[in-house]
Amino acid sequence: MLRFLSVCVLWCAAAVAQAPPYDVLIVGGRVVDGAGAPWYVADLAIRGDSIAAIGLLGDGPAALRIDARGLVVAPGFIDIHTHAERDVLELPAAENYIRQGVTTLLGGQCGGSPLPLRPFFEKLARTPIAVNFGLFVGQGSIREAILGRENRKATEAEIQKMRELTRQAMLDGAFGLSTGLFYVPGNYTPTEEVIELAKVVGRMGGMHISHMRDEAAGVLDSVRETIRIGEEGGLPTQVTHHKIIGVGNWGRSKETLQAVQEARARGVDVTIDQYPYTASSTSIGAIFPQWAMAAGGGGLQARLADPALRAKIKAVIVTRLKEDRGGGDPKNVVMARCAEPGLAGKNLAEITRARGREVTFENAAETMIELQLKGGCQGIFHAISEEDVERILRFPLTMVGSDGQIPVFGEGNPHPRSYGNFARVLARYVRERQALTLEDAVRKMTSLPAARLKLLDRGLLRPGMKADIALFDPARVADKATFLQPHQYAEGFPWVLVNGKPVVAHGAVTKERPGRVLYGPAH
Ligand SMILES: [Zn+2]
Repeated sequence: MLRFLSVCVLWCAAAVAQAPPYDVLIVGGRVVDGAGAPWYVADLAIRGDSIAAIGLLGDGPAALRIDARGLVVAPGFIDIHTHAERDVLELPAAENYIRQGVTTLLGGQCGGSPLPLRPFFEKLARTPIAVNFGLFVGQGSIREAILGRENRKATEAEIQKMRELTRQAMLDGAFGLSTGLFYVPGNYTPTEEVIELAKVVGRMGGMHISHMRDEAAGVLDSVRETIRIGEEGGLPTQVTHHKIIGVGNWGRSKETLQAVQEARARGVDVTIDQYPYTASSTSIGAIFPQWAMAAGGGGLQARLADPALRAKIKAVIVTRLKEDRGGGDPKNVVMARCAEPGLAGKNLAEITRARGREVTFENAAETMIELQLKGGCQGIFHAISEEDVERILRFPLTMVGSDGQIPVFGEGNPHPRSYGNFARVLARYVRERQALTLEDAVRKMTSLPAARLKLLDRGLLRPGMKADIALFDPARVADKATFLQPHQYAEGFPWVLVNGKPVVAHGAVTKERPGRVLYGPAH
């Protein structure tokens, strides 16, 4: 017996010494696991691209040891709503995202995506990128491929062609169908036509995510339409970047959240995502009536040349400046980037005055028409209440998404969400306002979007999961980007790992590009 024991002591010690060392050992951090469980102190070990162990591992050998004392160790954040497909090939470091802990981006939102998807995926697979990247296919892109920007119902033959494009996109790897029913040409699409494509996506395991037809006076009807597409299309459905636009509509998130809750209670799988800001950003074309932007009849320019049509168009712009996206005052519309140089950062009141006009809604509408005819602008629209933002954020079915992109650092005046979105939730809504617990905020950025996308190997800290990990200091985490000075990286994230490799180390961006293309359920 003694002899056996001494053999065991020798052999067991040798076995321990021979255990392959970890590639990364994160020691002594507060583990926030992504599921919403309260933080606990533990070490986390990584081997290859996966989490190898979580526990008391501090003495084990490791190629890289990270002292995480005082830091939160969380799953890397998953941004379910971005427009980064426009930039990721040129700016594959995605520095604005990794510096706020984001390790996975989904693009192709608001009805607009590359089409077909496959050439984009092939290019992306050949490009070393810092983050994981997946795509939705845009209903607007599909419709435009078949009908152009025509404002009419599709024929059955055209719908069949759209079904085929949808099916191919799912086979190529889309996570589902995004709609932008507010935009042209999504706005010309009857709900029934969307449902026909949703059925294809649903049978292939995908989801529907919608920039809704109306986020102002018609917001409740639009939420009901999004629910209906899920219910009749037979697939999960999501209200994306949920907001209530227009002073007269503030407070109506009570009604929209109730509609979502009731739908869920009767078995419709509906969820929400949101960015935590009181301004939105989109093309100033969004202030024009959609019918005026349709193809045919010479387009917007010809319609504006017709005095009767011009008066109608202008009346809609005036109404939207007063009651909708314009936020009730021309100074609440700020130009982010215009075809005409020198206007970025200026508001509509300033631009109107600079053109020698008194600042009235009618004159501001004239300025909008001029800007649009000179190539348009990306605008920022201050028309959302803090109360609605917070109510939507606290709702248990709401996840966090940026609706952002990868900006060229220092160029134009983009919405600060691209730089600060996730850090802002942690700084402002967890630490300062205590609207959310830290654990719930992390859940909304990790396991909630992961479950939504059926990305079942990410979004949680468990052995065997992919090692996408964000380390941040909960006392220091901060979004620095503002509407006036948006080009400022978030702070408080000393380490961010993607597939086990640090893309941020000691607070600095590394040269690692470990991101992968993520494919949807039918690939
Ligand atoms: Zn959108």
